[in-house]
Amino acid sequence: MLEGARADCHVHSTWSDGEANPEEIPELARRSGLAAVAITDHYDPHAPDYRPVPGRFLDLPRLAAMIEWRDRVRTSQAGQGVRVWVGIERGPLPVPLEGATPDLVIASVHYLTEPPPTVRGRLFDEAYWRAYMQDVLRVASGPQVDVVGHMAGYLPMRSMLLPGSTFEERREIEREIARRFFIRDWYEQVFRAAAARGAACELHCPTKSPSPDMVRLGLDTGVRFSAGSDAHIASWIGDVGWAYDLLESLGARPADLWAPDFDR
Ligand SMILES: [Zn+2]
Ligand SMILES: [Zn+2]
Repeated sequence: MLEGARADCHVHSTWSDGEANPEEIPELARRSGLAAVAITDHYDPHAPDYRPVPGRFLDLPRLAAMIEWRDRVRTSQAGQGVRVWVGIERGPLPVPLEGATPDLVIASVHYLTEPPPTVRGRLFDEAYWRAYMQDVLRVASGPQVDVVGHMAGYLPMRSMLLPGSTFEERREIEREIARRFFIRDWYEQVFRAAAARGAACELHCPTKSPSPDMVRLGLDTGVRFSAGSDAHIASWIGDVGWAYDLLESLGARPADLWAPDFDR
């Protein structure tokens, strides 16, 4: 039932730190069975490591160029029949857009706005994760957000990680952090705050988060979900099967799925 218009609402290109050229993304999306794809490159002048160069972050002139490119793709055959959206992924604070109108803004807490001190190797620091949870709630309740990005995955734990962990080890650490600190009440508050402003919460496919129980809670709360591969690698574009299968298994309806055109 949800299969008709599969969308990947979170993909990075070479305009920030992704591998795929924007020009090749519509074709990659079509080949992986998508009806629509959102290119959501990093744009966050507040980020401690912000460098507005291709390979790292967008800046406003390149965002404007991307939006123009999107318009050209839509009026030509270059879209390969795939609907293309151009958005941004920002951090925990609203960013200056100066009149630019991306199709969507993903707001992700990539770092804490007021981080408590951390110790390397001490990952289960309650004060730190409480501060994280506050930032996510603030993002969901604040301005300039269409999608609350990866609330329970890709957690900002770099300053606490010991060197040499694998992708899978980091995901296991995140699941443990979620088990210890991310109480049901917090999810419910975030879902309610997002739902109240018409924002979606992301089903983040590379980390398979939030957990199915919490997605069930979200559906009961009335929040909508968007599906994202968060592809930095070209071959990940369209890897949103986990999200669609989960929604299907939970009996979600098409109206539970958010996409940029939903409100436009
Ligand atoms: Zn992110
Ligand atoms: Zn991302």
